[in-house]
Amino acid sequence: MCGYFAKAVVCESGHLVTSNAESEKGPVTPYCMTCGKKIIDKCQHCGQDIPGEEFAETNGLEITYDGMGTTSGPLHESLGFRGVPKYCPSCGKPYPWTQSAIEAALDYIDTLIVLDTSERHDMKKALDNIVADSPKSAPAARRLVQLSRKAGKEALKFFQQVLAGVVCEAAKREMWG
Ligand SMILES: [Zn+2]
Ligand SMILES: [Zn+2]
Repeated sequence: MCGYFAKAVVCESGHLVTSNAESEKGPVTPYCMTCGKKIIDKCQHCGQDIPGEEFAETNGLEITYDGMGTTSGPLHESLGFRGVPKYCPSCGKPYPWTQSAIEAALDYIDTLIVLDTSERHDMKKALDNIVADSPKSAPAARRLVQLSRKAGKEALKFFQQVLAGVVCEAAKREMWG
């Protein structure tokens, strides 16, 4: 085994409890103190741990004493935490916080009746590309901004608020200018 991810503990809205469950002292509470949602540490689709802090193997040796004797293994060093992930790397499904942000945005788009049906459809299509990082992200974000402006001054503000935690970097630059 070379590198690995520590287990992250996150609430269903995406509030981080810890990026390294093993280093946490004391029990994790069952509900989030910020939003009251359930706290999870596994993908709800495939059951794999949510990846937290990343560790890489070094040339050093780590000696651990387990009460019976000592064992040695490669020493790992932390590469830090990249932030709460959006998608499960094991099954590719969105985590609940990603899902609920997308659903909130989709519901909101339905209320933008100043736009015609095809524009609302365009907006919904753009949404997927804004969350998943790809070459389509920046143009999709530009389209969302453009249609939001047409929909009224509250629309972009709403998307900025609801999607803040889940849009990819390229889309962020477009949406926040
Ligand atoms: Zn929360
Ligand atoms: Zn999964």
